[in-house]
Amino acid sequence: MGKIKLKNSIKITLATGNMHKVEEINLIAKDYNIEFVLPEGNFDPIENGSTFLENAYCKALFASKNGKTELYLADDSGLCTEALDGAPGIKSARYAPTADERIDKLLNAMKNSANRNAKFVCAMVVVNKEGKILYEIQKECLGKILFERKGNNGFGYDPIFFVNSKNKGMAELLPDEKSKVSHRAQALDCVLNWLKNEINQ
Ligand code: IMP
Repeated sequence: MGKIKLKNSIKITLATGNMHKVEEINLIAKDYNIEFVLPEGNFDPIENGSTFLENAYCKALFASKNGKTELYLADDSGLCTEALDGAPGIKSARYAPTADERIDKLLNAMKNSANRNAKFVCAMVVVNKEGKILYEIQKECLGKILFERKGNNGFGYDPIFFVNSKNKGMAELLPDEKSKVSHRAQALDCVLNWLKNEINQ
């Protein structure tokens, strides 16, 4: 893992086109002196990796090719179920055309499954402007697939995900609560700690 030589406030391009992620990440990172900016121009990287980490790297590399910042942070995330051998997994975003249809498809695929165990996974990769990987991490939030939607917060598969550590549905958590336990929050925490250590050297 390489070293970065940045002092004081940092500007990092967040390699995503998903505003929900930007909002969540800014909320988690609110106490750090970091400005997350969206990628320049169209953000349509080809995600042809076979793991969350590989796909995060595809996004980070794509953003670094057009960007103007020193650092690029990408995440790739998804929902994995035991009953469906890890599906929808890295295909979570493309499982069906809309968020509602994705939920219906998953509920239907699991309607006869007694094993409801599932996890949200988030991989994060930081690259420099040459596309070199400086840091990578993968974190999980363990839970279960509910039999029906519950709660109105969050996005994506949140309404059908029960969070073991909170004993509540993900969509029942307030944004501030989700930002303490989610897969993305845990991964970002590691990235922020890594950044803090790098900067303080
Ligand atoms: P990505 O943008 O390629 O990482 O795709 C992530 C997919 O997983 C999207 O379909 C999201 O709806 C879903 N996903 C990732 N994180 C979450 C989350 O925190 N809550 C609900 N769905 C999520």
